[in-house]
Amino acid sequence: MEQTFIMIKPDGVQRGLVGEIISRFEKKGFSLRGLKLISVERPFAEKHYEDLSSKPFFNKLVEYIISGPVVAMVWEGKNVVVTGRKIIGATNPSDSAPGTIRGDFAVEIGRNVIHGSDSVESARKEIALWFPDGTVNWQSSLHHWTHE
Ligand code: UDP
Ligand code: MG
Repeated sequence: MEQTFIMIKPDGVQRGLVGEIISRFEKKGFSLRGLKLISVERPFAEKHYEDLSSKPFFNKLVEYIISGPVVAMVWEGKNVVVTGRKIIGATNPSDSAPGTIRGDFAVEIGRNVIHGSDSVESARKEIALWFPDGTVNWQSSLHHWTHE
């Protein structure tokens, strides 16, 4: 079953959005496979965002991610990578539709509350980086009520 890496960024943690965000993924019908509150250091944040290292906003982005604890999660379910990105909304909250997490809770691209993997391949890399000891292998007893 497909998995994705979701991270609630420091602003989401500070603003008390952890429960609300987890709830949206749970209610959708996805299963939580990994969860931790963690403060990461600069080299780790740079590794996570290495594909963006040439971008002008890279340093600011790294500063943002290391500015406080984040909630790192692995979610599982059918098409969870693409659907997770839809639940999160467009990168720039000015463009994120109401009803999405960024559309409902963010105004600035540099304070956009949450990260989600953009492909199955990046999900695999990000899960390996953030959960090197693996995740919890279980299946919800409600699985059959959300997946055919
Ligand atoms: N970002 C930014 N300025 C930009 C583009 C991106 O500060 O012009 C930040 C923003 O927080 C975004 C993150 O960099 O979430 C990663 O960028 P990406 O293009 O991967 O967007 P995402 O996948 O998070 O939607
Ligand atoms: Mg991205």
